[in-house]
Amino acid sequence: MIDAPRLVCFDVDSTLLAVESLDFVLTRKLGPAATEKIEALTSGGMNGTLSFRQSLMARLDLTSLKRSDIAAAAVELRQHLTPGMAQLLSDLRRRGDHVRAVSGGFADVLSLALRDLGFGPGETFANRFVWEGETVAGIETANPLSDNGGKPRIIANLRSNAQYAAVWMVGDGVTDLETLTAGAADHFIGFGGIARRDAVVERAPDYAETLGDLRRLLLG
Ligand SMILES: [Mg+2]
Repeated sequence: MIDAPRLVCFDVDSTLLAVESLDFVLTRKLGPAATEKIEALTSGGMNGTLSFRQSLMARLDLTSLKRSDIAAAAVELRQHLTPGMAQLLSDLRRRGDHVRAVSGGFADVLSLALRDLGFGPGETFANRFVWEGETVAGIETANPLSDNGGKPRIIANLRSNAQYAAVWMVGDGVTDLETLTAGAADHFIGFGGIARRDAVVERAPDYAETLGDLRRLLLG
């Protein structure tokens, strides 16, 4: 009998990627002068003063994004993979783990970078824009990832469709930690190699300060 595989789910922004992807798109469009305003809305969603959806909507309200903005940012994002992550993912796949990306970011922005990291069709979960012609008009609000509690729902769904020996989640943020507290993941590793968030450092049972730490925790 073959042992059931392990499922290892990764957050994308500030975990697989060395940036927050939506903020990368917005800063690229609005210039460095807007950085402070964008970061305030992002951290509002992360520390709970805004819901995750409010934080997404407020950031999208800062400008009118076109298909050309998204396409150009998606190409540039390929240069912002977290160093060492591609090798780690490939080592996990080689030992038989099922590896998935679960993101509060947007599929159109992330698709090329995630393909570079070896993810195939059906192995990534992300938000989707609603388009009006060439312009972003909103977000698909039926997608669980567009609000708090979305990641636990995606992972619970993955586990109900397959037999796994154990389910692991890796991420920098409180929406990632929610997968453990909601009981969807068996293990959680906080990752601080890009962004170190106090609420996660204090509450995560395992915490990787660096990619080397993360490799040791996942590969032993
Ligand atoms: Mg993140």
